[in-house]
Amino acid sequence: MKKADLHLHTSRSDGQFSVEDLIKLAKSAELDIISITDHDTIDSIEEAIEIGKFYGIEVIPGLEISTEFLDIEIHILAYFFDVTSKELEEYLSFFRAERYKRALRIIQKLNSIGLSISIDDVLEVAGNSTIGRPHIAKAMVKNNLVSNYQEAFNKYIGNGCIAFERKVHLSPQSACKIINDAGGLSFIAHPNNMSEDIIKILIDSGIDGIEVIHPSHLPHKIEFFRGIVSEYFLLESGGSDFHGGERNDLSNLGKYFIQGSKVDAMRNYLIKNRA
Ligand code: AMP
Ligand code: FE
Ligand code: FE
Ligand code: ZN
Repeated sequence: MKKADLHLHTSRSDGQFSVEDLIKLAKSAELDIISITDHDTIDSIEEAIEIGKFYGIEVIPGLEISTEFLDIEIHILAYFFDVTSKELEEYLSFFRAERYKRALRIIQKLNSIGLSISIDDVLEVAGNSTIGRPHIAKAMVKNNLVSNYQEAFNKYIGNGCIAFERKVHLSPQSACKIINDAGGLSFIAHPNNMSEDIIKILIDSGIDGIEVIHPSHLPHKIEFFRGIVSEYFLLESGGSDFHGGERNDLSNLGKYFIQGSKVDAMRNYLIKNRA
């Protein structure tokens, strides 16, 4: 049996490791198939496919997009899209530009309450990655504004906190369309706390599958999501959502996976439905 982990992050977004280091770790965790699903960027995929060949790991194009529905943040995973799609890249650069503007708004809020931090401090941490709150939290620790990473979220930038700012508004329906137009498949990411009603609305709006396996899912949830997958003839995906670093989640690599046959099912679905 082949082991596939279709949810991994690198330093291109908020993960700790470079593409090559991540692939080496995946190899040690005895994974055969992986997908790098960085937030709002597909910049590392072609490199990852090449490096994967060297290490004997199959790399499938992947991506994670944040959307919003009824004030709830919903993450959508995409697989098997055309990595050369111009339209997809245009959308992603727009989302990244919006994340940059959001970082500026968060910094402004922090400054207004007397905390000294600049966009350059954050860029120094983020480099050329998709900017997210984890980079801001790390820059805050560096500037001695908080004593640790978690305190930055608890006190200032966590959801609903004083310096919290939303990301650009994108509906899950639009995300599905962007992904499908680029020839890819869309999945609801880690639906652990999602209500059945919302899941059904997402299915109606064109979601192709559900991330059934995820570290946040207890066995009864896995069973529940599998039930929905079979009831609606959807696809099943899964993975570790490994980030490294602050998350201390190295032991999740190789532990949260789906069978290679699930990946074959995705390919077959594309051949049958999108030919
Ligand atoms: P962003 O996409 O910029 O909103 O950042 C989301 C990321 O920030 C999540 O994937 C987590 O890694 C981190 N994060 C969000 N909320 C918290 C929190 N309350 N505590 C720790 N990390 C958090
Ligand atoms: Fe993340
Ligand atoms: Fe996510
Ligand atoms: Zn993720």
